[in-house]
Amino acid sequence: MEHFVYDLLDWFAVAKRDLPWRRHVSPYTVWISEIMLQQTQTERVISYYRNWFDNFPDIFSVHKATEDALLKCWEGLGYYSRPKNIKKTADILASQNNGLFPEDYQQLMQLPGIGPYTASAILSLAFEKPFPVIDANVERVVSRLCNISEVIKTSQAQKKIRTVLLTLLPKDKSRAFNQAMMELGALVCKPQRPDCSKCPGQSCCQGYHQGEVHNRPVKRKKKQSIPLEVSAGVLFAQQEVFIQKRPPHGLMPNLWEFPGGKLKKGETPEAALVREFWEELHFEISILDKMTVIRHSYTSFRVTLHIFRCQLLYEPQQPCLKAAVESRWVLPEQLQDFAFPAADLKVIELLKKDPFTILRRP
Ligand code: SF4
Repeated sequence: MEHFVYDLLDWFAVAKRDLPWRRHVSPYTVWISEIMLQQTQTERVISYYRNWFDNFPDIFSVHKATEDALLKCWEGLGYYSRPKNIKKTADILASQNNGLFPEDYQQLMQLPGIGPYTASAILSLAFEKPFPVIDANVERVVSRLCNISEVIKTSQAQKKIRTVLLTLLPKDKSRAFNQAMMELGALVCKPQRPDCSKCPGQSCCQGYHQGEVHNRPVKRKKKQSIPLEVSAGVLFAQQEVFIQKRPPHGLMPNLWEFPGGKLKKGETPEAALVREFWEELHFEISILDKMTVIRHSYTSFRVTLHIFRCQLLYEPQQPCLKAAVESRWVLPEQLQDFAFPAADLKVIELLKKDPFTILRRP
């Protein structure tokens, strides 16, 4: 492994991608980019990152922003507690620490939404402190380099990975080393087809020499995601659409949505929707037609979403909100001013493509 670090850094100097968060590095840019990048592909993050920095160039702009404005920039990225925690942390730093991040691991860990990974990333990538940054790419590279046979998420495997990285980490090049390891996992030591012939670590890679590359990392059997059937309704009245805001706690906090809910056993999607509108809003509705079926996967659920156009049986009235904290009647073109979950965004896209879907009245 002696030459690996030198070879890795040389490779990285040539092969690294020109990513927006690498152009200007600060604790704030590292923080936002690393939170966006967790469980999300780099290509997808780029436009979100640019949009975020157009709107919130520094900690103080986050401090001044409303939670809804932050949520709108995060719309579609998932993990909606993240912008909420970003806001809390920005408020603390702006009001108590002059907008500056502490350079101490324990102090960083006390900030909302900052765990071991993000704290290490800020210390290493922004402050050049010798902390290893262990994401899924790095886990995969080390598990292959060292041919780790334990299940990757076990404490034994994690301990081995950390020990290897602490041994390799050059104290004065922490940022480049950590970025290079992540980049190697993203570009060369890929999950399905690692390109070992282009790898700066090939000569010392135990997984490669022992023919175990495709058996590493060892993963736990995936839990089957739970299938869920849900109905939701685009409710019209006088060319406006009804939307409601989810509560600040629980799944997809503070996002807006088209009302609806889960089907009960033996219930049709239509019956479920009529029941949900009554139970959650005290609205009596009739269904006009089925707009579409959307399939969307969340971390633990596979949702089949039945979307209907519907109308009130009576004149518009005040809803009795049971599952939401706020509601609005809005024109279709105003929907873009609110933050929605990914599945509802697909409905909005459909409405944009066919605006007459809204205007066609029975
Ligand atoms: Fe990954 Fe192959 Fe490089 Fe080993 S030699 S670290 S398996 S790309």
